[in-house]
Formats: sequence, structure tokens, C-alpha cells
Amino acid sequence: MDPEGFGEKLPVLHLGVDDLDTFGWGCTTFYIYRLLKELSRTPLGSRVKLIDYPLLVRLNPSIPFKTRGNGALSLHIAGEERDLGEVVEIALALLDTRSMPGREPGLISIIGKIDRMLARKIYIHLLTDVADITYAMRVIEKLGGKIHIGGRGVIGALGSVAYHLYEGDCTYELLAYSEDIEDVHIDRDSVVEMDRLTSPLTFNNIDRETGKILIKPSTGAPVALGIRGENPSILVKAYEILSAKGLEGYMILRTNQATDQHLIPRGISDAKYYRTGLFKGVVVDNPRIMRGGDVLLKISDGAEITVAIYKEIGEANRVARELVKGDIIAVGGSVKPWLLELTETPVINAEELRILKLAEKYIEIPPKCPVCGGSMESMGSGKGYRCRRCGYRDRNASKVKVRVERNIKIGVYKPPPRNMKHLSKPLSRIGFEKICRAVSPSGGISSVIL
Ligand SMILES: [Zn+2]
Repeated sequence: MDPEGFGEKLPVLHLGVDDLDTFGWGCTTFYIYRLLKELSRTPLGSRVKLIDYPLLVRLNPSIPFKTRGNGALSLHIAGEERDLGEVVEIALALLDTRSMPGREPGLISIIGKIDRMLARKIYIHLLTDVADITYAMRVIEKLGGKIHIGGRGVIGALGSVAYHLYEGDCTYELLAYSEDIEDVHIDRDSVVEMDRLTSPLTFNNIDRETGKILIKPSTGAPVALGIRGENPSILVKAYEILSAKGLEGYMILRTNQATDQHLIPRGISDAKYYRTGLFKGVVVDNPRIMRGGDVLLKISDGAEITVAIYKEIGEANRVARELVKGDIIAVGGSVKPWLLELTETPVINAEELRILKLAEKYIEIPPKCPVCGGSMESMGSGKGYRCRRCGYRDRNASKVKVRVERNIKIGVYKPPPRNMKHLSKPLSRIGFEKICRAVSPSGGISSVIL
């Protein structure tokens, strides 16, 4: 929240942006960075006050027509109405208006109070469901907002603004920039050292299996690195441990990354295409292992659905092969119109697998000989068994059921960090969940950017 009540007494500007550049979400974050830099250089910057960290919000990752990276941003600033108007003018003046093919930029501003319950509803809808631009435009109008640039990006812009009022888990990310990415060098040993000294309060710095450094995003210039963690101060500490050349500055963002917030519990009958959720059910058929190793299985909670657990998700794919009829599992992921030739139900594309309860597993084996204890063999279907060692025959003998130990355990199975979606919560974060509210950065703009 806003401890000094700054935003209570003064009007608040909510400025949301998305997809300002097709070359990657990095450019949208860089735009916000430049805007904050610009504000910090003017007297205006000291008259207005950030009532939240800049937000970086990931929305529904399964939407086919999403903007690149699906990360939208917003700023939340309190001040006199005239000053807020000036902030919007500066924001518009900074835009790169060259039109780029495929670019769907959105920039919105809302000045005034937004109802918290309504904001929550909007955020969860944009995070977990399908929404089109008409929906976003209608909501922005209802909130008394203005659409300054009206591409598909307004959907994300609205989602980011709504997240400001959401009370739930959050993480922070420090993004460092360089316009000349070729000149950036980050010393590998210093990343290992940073990870050792700051994790688990920072996470996904290094992929433990492959040793791959994960703080260098693949999105390219001008984002040179991103460190993720639980609070702003641990990120600054981590950044200072790194030995890096060629970085121009950084920005700290509050974000819904690594929270699993898109995995809301849903019934299987609620599994409409492109929705995300956590679906719980009993395994109704033994898994099918496809060529290449992907696993398909069916679960039911009254309604039935197929679950696809692809090889890329690692451990979860391995344990899925060992599931049997009667196991109770929950699958987090999104609903896709895939594999329609193989299955008559929609398919949940699994991002994670939770094994909740294991059924007893039996196998059927030939009986042992009652005379000598040797193994018996079938004399043909329905004709009984004969001992291989002593020749004893029993026309009424049949296979016996034997309980076998399960070689998988109850637990949560997730992909390795290198294959994780932005929203996926790494196992190392379990226990660090918190209820976040908007926090006014104590040092103002200068504590958010360098
Ligand atoms: Zn025998």
C-alpha cells in the first residue's frame, strides 16, 4: 500500500503500456526506464510520487495472438492533476512512432481511483482467460481511462494497471540495459558467486543441471540482464556482486513472474480453449507414451479431459509414465485445441504435474507351483497351468494379482528453470510466497532506476 497516504489525498495516474516494439518486450521496459529517467531530470519528477514500483505483468501465456513475450508494464504516480497531465505528455513525446509491421502498441492512462474488487476481476480474467480488444476498450472506458495508442497492446496495458491493486504473491526483477549489447560482458564466476550469496532470495540465476547462465535474457538489446528475486534490496545486492562491463543502468520492477498465479483451480468442465488453470482429477486410463516420449493421459473429475505432458518439462514427464488408473493428480497448464486427431476431448498442455495420491498398483503373474514352488506356465487360455520344473498340472489355476511398490512419489514436478515460463513458480520459491500490495519505493524514482 501507500504508507503515507499520498495516493489517498492526491489523484493517481495509472499509465499502462504494452508492445511498444516488436523486437521484444525489452523495448517496452526500456521505454518505461527512459520515461522515469526523463522524470528524474525535471522538477516535475520531485513533485509527483511513485506509489508502486513500475510493474511488469505477464498475462495469459496460451493466447495465440498475444504480444511478444506477453509482458505489459505500468506506472502508478500520485500528484496534482496538472502534474499528472504533464507526465502523460512526456510519456507521449517519448514514443517512437515509426510504424513497424506486426507491432500492436497500446498506451492507456487512467486518472482516479479504481475499485479494488473490479481490478482483481480484470487482472484474473486477463491472466487466465481469453479477452479481446473490445473487452479491454469497454473496461478502460468504464474506468474513465483514455486510450492514447489503441493497438492490441491495450489489453496488456489494462492488465498491468489492474495488477497494481491485486493483493497476492509477487516477485521483483532488476533489468539492466545497454544499447550496445555486444559490449556487455558479465563475468561467469561472479554470477556463480552472486547466486551462492543471494539465492534462494534470488532465483533462476543458473540452471543447475546444465550450468547455463539464465540472467542473460535471449530477448536481446537493450536488455542486458535480468535478476529475479523476492525484494528490491536483494536485487541491488545481487547486482553489486556481479562483475559486469558495458551496462548503462538498471530498473527494478514489481512483477507477477514466478508466482503460478495463472494456475487458478478449475473444474474440468471449465476447461475452455486457451484458459489456464490447475485441473484436479483421477487418472482414468494408464498413460499412453507417444513416439518421442511425450505422455498422454486422461483424467476425470466427473468430466474427462486429456493431459499432454511433453518431454521438455523433464521430471514431470518421467513420473507421468509411471501413473496408473486411480492415481489422483492435479495438472497446471493451458487448454489447447491440439491433437484433435488423437483425442475427442480438449487437451491440457501441462506446465507442471502434482501427484496428490497414489493408487495401489497390481500386476498379474502366473501362479507358483504348490508342490515344488517352481514357476508355472499357461497351458492355453482357460486351460490352467503346468509346472515347468515338476510337471504338476492344475486345470483351475489362474494368474495371481501381486501388489507392486510404486516408484514415484507424491509431490510437485516442474520443468527445469531453462524451460520455465515467466509465470511458473520455481520449486526454490516454495515457502517464499507473500501477500504483496503496492509499495511506494522509499527513495522515490531514484531508488527504482540507476
Ligand atoms: Zn512343481
